[in-house]
Amino acid sequence: MANSETNENIDKSVTPSGPSAELNQQRYNPAELEPKWQARWDADPSLYAAEGHDCRKPKFYCLEMLPYPSGQLHMGHVRNYAIGDALARFMWMRGSNVLHPMGWDAFGLPAENAALKNNTPPAQWTLANIVAMRRQMRRMGLSYDWATEVTTCLPEYYRWNQWFFLKMFAAGLAYRKKSKVNWCPQCQTVLANEQVVDGRCWRHEDTLVEQRDLTQWFLRITKYADELLNGLDTMDGWPEKVRTMQRNWIGRSEGALVDFKVSESSEKISVFTTRVDTIFGATSVQLAPEHAVAKSFAAGNPVLAAQIEEMLAQQKAAREAGDLGAIEKHGVDTGKFAINPFNGELVPIWVANYILADYGTGAIMSVPAHDERDFEFANKYGLPVRRVIVPNKVIDDSQALPFVVEDDATLANSGQWTGQSCAEAQQKMAAFAKANGFGTATVTYRLKDWGVSRQRYWGTPIPMVYCANGHAGIDPGGVVPLPESALPVLLPAQVEITQQGGSPLGRVAEFVNTACPVCGGPARRETDTMDTFVDSSWYFYRYTDAKNASAPFDSAKANYWFPIDQYIGGVEHAILHLIYSRFWTKVMRDLGMVQNDEPAARLFTQGMVIKDGAKMSKSKGNVVSPDLMIERYGADATRMYALFAAPPDRDLEWQEDGVAGISRFLARVHRLTMDNLNYSGDTVGSAPAAEARLLRTLHQTIGKVTEDFSGRWHFNTSIAAIMILVNEIDDAEPLILTKRISKEAVEEVFRDVTLLLSPFAPFLAQELWSKLGGEGAVFRQPWPAVNSELAKETEVEIPVQVNGKLANVLRFSAGFVADVLNSEDKRLIELVLLDEKVKSRIAGKTVVRAVVVKGKLVNIVVR
Ligand SMILES: [Zn+2]
Ligand SMILES: [Zn+2]
Repeated sequence: MANSETNENIDKSVTPSGPSAELNQQRYNPAELEPKWQARWDADPSLYAAEGHDCRKPKFYCLEMLPYPSGQLHMGHVRNYAIGDALARFMWMRGSNVLHPMGWDAFGLPAENAALKNNTPPAQWTLANIVAMRRQMRRMGLSYDWATEVTTCLPEYYRWNQWFFLKMFAAGLAYRKKSKVNWCPQCQTVLANEQVVDGRCWRHEDTLVEQRDLTQWFLRITKYADELLNGLDTMDGWPEKVRTMQRNWIGRSEGALVDFKVSESSEKISVFTTRVDTIFGATSVQLAPEHAVAKSFAAGNPVLAAQIEEMLAQQKAAREAGDLGAIEKHGVDTGKFAINPFNGELVPIWVANYILADYGTGAIMSVPAHDERDFEFANKYGLPVRRVIVPNKVIDDSQALPFVVEDDATLANSGQWTGQSCAEAQQKMAAFAKANGFGTATVTYRLKDWGVSRQRYWGTPIPMVYCANGHAGIDPGGVVPLPESALPVLLPAQVEITQQGGSPLGRVAEFVNTACPVCGGPARRETDTMDTFVDSSWYFYRYTDAKNASAPFDSAKANYWFPIDQYIGGVEHAILHLIYSRFWTKVMRDLGMVQNDEPAARLFTQGMVIKDGAKMSKSKGNVVSPDLMIERYGADATRMYALFAAPPDRDLEWQEDGVAGISRFLARVHRLTMDNLNYSGDTVGSAPAAEARLLRTLHQTIGKVTEDFSGRWHFNTSIAAIMILVNEIDDAEPLILTKRISKEAVEEVFRDVTLLLSPFAPFLAQELWSKLGGEGAVFRQPWPAVNSELAKETEVEIPVQVNGKLANVLRFSAGFVADVLNSEDKRLIELVLLDEKVKSRIAGKTVVRAVVVKGKLVNIVVR
């Protein structure tokens, strides 16, 4: 809808502008006026600086996600920043104390790749890219307070990653364990589960992730699993789709752990089940190939050992193919038995290729009558199927199997629990297991602890050493945390990057070899570095106190600014960054550093920028460079187009014609304003209706744009409304040039159009503001207020029906219609009955009654 309307508006701006265009000496030239204002703004950093906490203005923390410094802004950045920038400018104009910072997520793999390719040290490459991108951001006119800039690869920042790591280690939140890890052969490093997408690396969409066993550092995010989950219910300012993604990721399920003893052995098998009420229907126990009990069986059974090896290979292949769910399920009977603790029954123990060691306990009880997968497996191998749940609504047990319902169903063939409802039995049976020492009610999560070790050079060194003497009591492996006074552990500068054979830091003897801080004996430093998502988990707190050299930030400052009032970024961060940073906030709260439970009160996820129907990417050759657009059309037109071409939450198809159209529109605003600058002297005659109409559209537009900022951010319709207003000014120009519209009205119109445009096209708005005689920065002026009297429609159209059929549409003054509605006044009906068309419809009939419906319709009933 907005499109057809706006295309028309753009098209209108293509038409020759008439004689006044020639009168205008100064044409719109963004290549000249934009750098001019940029230089002036750069010279005055206080323009975009936040004020002190005692300024008595409401605070507003407006934040866009910080970029990785690749060296080039792309259109996705332009869109993200144009949204945040418009909002920041609007909030300044509305009288808020605005914090609008920017920084660099500066550690990560591309710097190492570039180092390999160009033989440039990662630090040099990264810092040069930052310079280039900062220049682009300034050229775009983005209103960042550069005094609060944060660069995560600098020691002044990453030392606090190390500091947090030590705090977490002391609190038991950072620990080491050997585990199966995702390994990207391309990155040559470990990936977190969150960084594996469909079995592939999140950075390398065409690279299958492998499984390896490594000892790694983990952060205990699962400690906060319930809080991370429950918090989502109250986060109304976050998109529902993000909250749903996080809920699914956390994946809480309630159930029970039950121990099955291995017959004729001291071993036991602990199974997790969400349906303990079906345990009398268990006809086998199934183990993951890596389960300890399976391994002990295999120790004396070479045939089984070979079968287990084969199953492990199948799992590895399936993981690497990215689809474990699609594995062809099969298993082998170990010939051993387990004892069902609820009825003492012996059930066969199988090893199956679809049971995963790292999911639940790595063992399940198989209940074919009441589980699809177990049913399929039992049919394949001829295992017994025993019904223990029956639906309440049928008396017989002919209901087809498997029957997986638990609501409105009852236990059968289940000893003392027969006849209980599923829900009741689930609770009582878990309690029974606990009372008898063979199980307990429990909750499991899909969410796993966050593996943060990376075998990378370009990241934060982990502040731990391994003492040759070992220190029982600190860590059996001799792990010793460094004291805070030893921070920062600096990344060595000259490191050969090969991306082979583990962390490059391991080959730097001066780095690796150190003294143990406890005993002074020889020790080795940890050579892995931290996942770069650590950097982005708390960077936005640092903005509130970016220069602090004695703490990550001052709590008083963070508590003033937090939570972030509006966070803006891509939905691709719904799981990784947005869960990690929620976790980090809770850890900092528990350390007494902040008061807020969640980092951001509101989150907005903008759509992608696409071209020719696909996401812009180098490989598709459909990348449009922001620099090129700015060179051709100016920064104002480029950013305004990014806001105009689609609602901000939808994907935007980049079309250069559209940018050109916006540029022509801005040129028209420029021309109209310049043409009418020199209105002086008295009004000659008057055109009251035209003036009222112009002011009406102006104030309706102010109302619409103001509402869009507070509501759904449909900046596309805001900008379309400004275009309609400008069309009306254009239409009224002959009356303005001949001074038949008052000087006051003309001044108000041009001043307010300039203010309305300033969040979207800040350079042009600043230029016009100064031409109009305004002082200071345009975005520090008060936002125009709606005059609701002027905004009112003066005439309203009233359809008149006779016996429900439209007879005519009549126009009345709005004030009159409002008047007659407020009383028993019959004047409106009297006037309607005088209309010729209405009269002809009711000729020869009797008016039974006439009704005014909500000031919108008159209905006359005749007979
Ligand atoms: Zn990778
Ligand atoms: Zn020691």
